Amino acid sequence: MQAYAWAAQDHGARILQHTPALGIAMAGGRAVGVRTADGVIGCDQLVIAAGPQSDRLARDAGLDLPLAPARAEMIVTEALPLMPLGGVDGNGLYGRQTLRGNLAYGGGWHEWLDAVPADNPLPRPSTPTIRPLARRLAELFPKAAHARVIRSWAGIVENTPDGRPVLDRPADPGNVTVATMSSVGFGLSPATGRALRDIVVEGRCTFADLGKLSLARFRDLDPDWRRRQGWFTPAAAPAREEMPA
Ligand SMILES: Cc1cc2nc3c(=O)[nH]c(=O)nc-3n(C[C@H](O)[C@H](O)[C@H](O)COP(=O)(O)OP(=O)(O)OC[C@H]3O[C@@H](n4cnc5c(N)ncnc54)[C@H](O)[C@@H]3O)c2cc1C
Repeated sequence: MQAYAWAAQDHGARILQHTPALGIAMAGGRAVGVRTADGVIGCDQLVIAAGPQSDRLARDAGLDLPLAPARAEMIVTEALPLMPLGGVDGNGLYGRQTLRGNLAYGGGWHEWLDAVPADNPLPRPSTPTIRPLARRLAELFPKAAHARVIRSWAGIVENTPDGRPVLDRPADPGNVTVATMSSVGFGLSPATGRALRDIVVEGRCTFADLGKLSLARFRDLDPDWRRRQGWFTPAAAPAREEMPA
């Protein structure tokens, strides 16, 4: 992250930390600025890349971005003898063994959240989430069931209905690009950065067809999509007889 930040600054970027975007100022059907506690920062082009807050900001620009935020965690075990396997995806988990021997796994258990407020504290790992992760890992690798969990980390992932990113600059308002990576963002970030540069500067991605990552794919989405996918918070859970099959 630091390397990206320095490289951006070397190219003239100004990074304002602790300056949440509170909203988008619109005029004449276009985005003209970002509202912050210190005033409006004017813009010709705007990229909305605020993770789980992207849907709220996109709404200001008249764009409907369907997102379901969830807290996800990873766990790391103590080092074990190397297995003849690289990454493994199974039992509701994904992960890999590091060269040092630690099993780093997560992803399988999401704690679904309602809207994430701008002043939301940073998520921290929690025992209720770690336990099912550790149990699933022990089931996946029974011979490693004795391994102790030595580390964990947590974050909030914004999930699109199909789990794929949105990288799109819709015709209306025309100067707003939406960039939300759903739950697959780390690995894609170098290519995403280049695609974003293309979309903003050239008006389209010059090296890949991003049609499948457009917002338009959600045009006919059922308004009840979160509930239908079972992605609701315990408080919003439907009565048992209404549960989706
Ligand atoms: C535990 C865990 C493990 C993961 N493992 C992997 C993995 O192995 N591989 C992988 O590819 N992906 C992984 N992911 C998913 C990956 O982190 C996300 O896909 C990716 O970070 C999403 O990128 P993003 O740019 O859309 O949003 P984010 O990374 O969430 O970035 C959004 C940024 O916007 C800022 N922001 C939010 N609101 C505002 C606001 N109002 N004003 C100003 N700034 C704001 C945030 O501070 C943040 O810096 C993991 C996620 C978690 C939580």
